Amino acid sequence: MVYTGRFAPSPTGDLHLGSLLAALGSWLEARAAGGRWLLRIDDLDTQRAAPASADRQQTQLARIGLVPDGRPLRQSTRGAAYAAALAQLEAAGLAYRCACSRSDLAARNGLHPERCIRPAREDGAFAWRLRVPKGLLGFDDHLQGRFALDLQREVGDFVLRRADGMWAYQLAVVVDDAASGITAVVRGADLLESTPRQILLQRLLGLPTPTYLHLPVLVDAAGCKLSKSQGAAAIPAHPVEALRSALALLGQRRAAVAPASDAASLLRSALALYDRSALPRKRTLVAPQSAPSPAPRTLDPLSTATRSAS
Ligand code: GLU
Repeated sequence: MVYTGRFAPSPTGDLHLGSLLAALGSWLEARAAGGRWLLRIDDLDTQRAAPASADRQQTQLARIGLVPDGRPLRQSTRGAAYAAALAQLEAAGLAYRCACSRSDLAARNGLHPERCIRPAREDGAFAWRLRVPKGLLGFDDHLQGRFALDLQREVGDFVLRRADGMWAYQLAVVVDDAASGITAVVRGADLLESTPRQILLQRLLGLPTPTYLHLPVLVDAAGCKLSKSQGAAAIPAHPVEALRSALALLGQRRAAVAPASDAASLLRSALALYDRSALPRKRTLVAPQSAPSPAPRTLDPLSTATRSAS
């Protein structure tokens, strides 16, 4: 089986240094294994996702030499595949309709009880939930080690489709990873706790389980995850500087200082020098206070200045 990895950003703003870690980490793992690297556009949330943002993210990636193999898959086009997976779970008696609201579940720490609290909603809408079995579900993360959750006690019956019709990330990611033949998931450790849910869905749907490697997430000095919408820790304007920052954060010290005139040659060195054992085995990393390149600090993929520089 050909190693197939992916990077799956939500198009809710420009990529920041934290997103670049996941992009570069997944690219290095894929290329070091002689495998393929795909891009997926996680635009399920049509309220927050902006089509222009997906284009800008691809431009940002291309400027530093991260070009996917093939056209990106867009989650917003995948409703039929998610509906088929939900129908399969329903037919097996594993999914049920639920009219409970968030406030109904608030007193129970958000955990859904065995039977719904609310029989129906006034507008007739309902969500779909998965019937979660008892027991621990664990996996061996290639960086973080063993990680297990008692899904029934700690997560409860989780939502597959919301009452407003939006597909849940957990279902979409499992269906899409399988459809794209993803064999290895490399992403931020903020998703570590989602992984047992995804493995459970893979098992119930009869889909293969990829390997997992969760990279540390960049946080600010207060310990909060950087968010695209806050514009924090922008990617250094110069592609080579951007790569050097990301390589240093990934523990690739020799690659981070390798001589290079452009992003393509630095990426080649990074691949030749890639050392998985040097990846930081942490869930979080504090973002550098300031980007190492001089002003302008932010990468604007659409400005003429940055275009002519590339
Ligand atoms: N779209 C998700 C995010 O931006 C990542 C999905 C994944 O890697 O599984 O956080």
